[in-house]
Amino acid sequence: MIDTRALPTELFIGGAWVPSSRTTRIDVLDPATGHAITTVADATVEDGLAAVSAAHAAFPGWAATAPRERGEVLRRAFELITARVEWFAELIARENGKAMPDARAEVRYAAEFFRWFAEEAVRIPGDLRVAPGGATRVLVQHQPVGVSFLITPWNFPAAMATRKIGPALAAGCTVVLKPASETPLTAYAMAALLAEAGAPPGVVNVITTSKPAPLSAALLHDPRVRKLSFTGSTAVGRHLLREAADHIVNCSMELGGNAPFLVFDDADLAGALDGAMIAKMRNGGEACTSANRFYVQRGIVDRFTEGLVARMGAMVVGPGYDERTTCGPLINPAAVEKVDALVKGAVAGGARVLLGGTRGAGCFYPPTVLVGAPVGNAILREEIFGPVAVLVPFDTTEEAVALANDTEYGLVAYVYSEDLKKALAVADRLEFGMVGINRGLISDPSAPFGGVKESGLGREGAHEGLMAYLETKYIAAAW
Ligand code: NAP
Repeated sequence: MIDTRALPTELFIGGAWVPSSRTTRIDVLDPATGHAITTVADATVEDGLAAVSAAHAAFPGWAATAPRERGEVLRRAFELITARVEWFAELIARENGKAMPDARAEVRYAAEFFRWFAEEAVRIPGDLRVAPGGATRVLVQHQPVGVSFLITPWNFPAAMATRKIGPALAAGCTVVLKPASETPLTAYAMAALLAEAGAPPGVVNVITTSKPAPLSAALLHDPRVRKLSFTGSTAVGRHLLREAADHIVNCSMELGGNAPFLVFDDADLAGALDGAMIAKMRNGGEACTSANRFYVQRGIVDRFTEGLVARMGAMVVGPGYDERTTCGPLINPAAVEKVDALVKGAVAGGARVLLGGTRGAGCFYPPTVLVGAPVGNAILREEIFGPVAVLVPFDTTEEAVALANDTEYGLVAYVYSEDLKKALAVADRLEFGMVGINRGLISDPSAPFGGVKESGLGREGAHEGLMAYLETKYIAAAW
């Protein structure tokens, strides 16, 4: 078991662990019990600006470090995490609440971003073109954007950090990471690991704060900060885009989702149920990719419903770090309130509860299946972020596509059909940044992850993820 007294809990600035000038600290709670695990430092605006100073001072040296060397730091970080999967998984299970199998999967996924971007560090492109007139040359190169401000959510405390730190460091940027206050311990542990892997002082800085709004405003109005990469809710993302507008800060936004899961009559039932369980229940439904709305064609709906109720009903609810658990607690009481209110609102609107539907003690909410929620009900419009599946039957492909697209979100959609031609045609018409065909898990460090509409701007992972931390420079050369 992790010795929580040995965990780093101060701010990590310029390669040193420093206390905040604010004397109050932030409690880190175990969602399974509500008890404090430990406390972490609570950064002031001045602490945030000190982190920017450290990142700014380290930037020229890191940008000039050979790409191979930058890549090797990331490669060592990949190897260090891989050797400590169990340790990181337990830490995540304790502060976030997710079940150990989900936590282990997250740690491996998080490590893969470091491996992928270790390889991308030496693939920064550039090219030389001949202008159409033939007399001049167009030289194109890419340079690191600069000091990058990274803000991450609590639902994937390791992977959302590595998905940003990996490409930033590969590109030659230095970073100030502000993790969610619910899950800061994984971020601090990651900072210690990167230092061990050879990241020089100031290249990676991590700060926690109970007052993210004034701190973010100060950083986004500091002209030394040139990049914001945010993962979190659409509401906060919208606010940060406004803050970033004053200095035209380069922004990447990974925001909320409201994923539809389409099951056609010709789907492989067992495959669709396997995919539904991953798409719905990974992290207990607390994922931006979580399937919110299950649109199931009339000819398969009864069998699919029966199978989903059986599988969700077989899940074991308990503390994430108990090895028997397959569905952990939600992150905090406010999350339970939100899920509970959505379910009650759906029932008041005419939905029927086929499984669960009644909150448990503390932060626990049981796997729940509903049918019959009316079109337009909040449970079909808002991100549920909990273990609740809402089933809606449909008749025609036209109807399914229209229902799926009827949302301001556009992160991911899932399609199940054995007719690949039809599935691809449907995927073409879905207004989402990502579509899973006969797959309930689409996250992959080598693929461009991101949304359209109000789900975000830009992509993380893949080569696109590296390019998000590079500026294009055109040099008009006469020779
Ligand atoms: P959130 O409330 O938006 O918080 C995300 C981060 O923003 C946290 O670090 C939070 O700090 C910080 N924050 C909150 N208010 C802020 C402000 N006014 N100024 C600056 N920073 C602020 O979201 P969440 O509840 O943690 O995460 C869940 C959301 O993230 C869901 O909507 C989910 O879909 C989305 N998400 C998207 C992706 C994706 O890739 N598209 C991936 C994962 C999650 P505090 O913790 O201190 O409040």
